[in-house]
Amino acid sequence: MSELVEKAAAAAANAYAPYSKYNVGAVVRTTDGREFAGVNVENAAYPLGQCAERTAIGAAATAGYRPGDIAAIGINASPCGGCRQWLYEWRIPEVSFRREDGTVATYSAADLLPDTWDLPAGVGSTEPDNGEGAGADGAEAAQ
Ligand SMILES: [Zn+2]
Repeated sequence: MSELVEKAAAAAANAYAPYSKYNVGAVVRTTDGREFAGVNVENAAYPLGQCAERTAIGAAATAGYRPGDIAAIGINASPCGGCRQWLYEWRIPEVSFRREDGTVATYSAADLLPDTWDLPAGVGSTEPDNGEGAGADGAEAAQ
């Protein structure tokens, strides 16, 4: 999915990276065809900076999308370990990024982070708590 990687590279122009000068962009495409871009946003308190992937996923979440609703993401750099955890939680089947040598790699989020940590079954939920889904079951399990 090099098209999303190209869009991510274009989005990277808007990165706020005054400290690292390393601009990163990411674009997610939802299963219903919408796209949300994100860039890295650094902060003088360095650990508070946010990666482009998380900014893009956050934009999709703000619009109401949830894990399983994102079909693909393109990034103009290899995702960091923290972002790989996010990509895994959001169950993104197609993650494409530009390698240092300029080629595009594509993996599933699960392939990018094998033997991934996840909440044990019955603890928490990524589903909205509408009283009918796993969220309600999770609440009952906690009681
Ligand atoms: Zn990251």
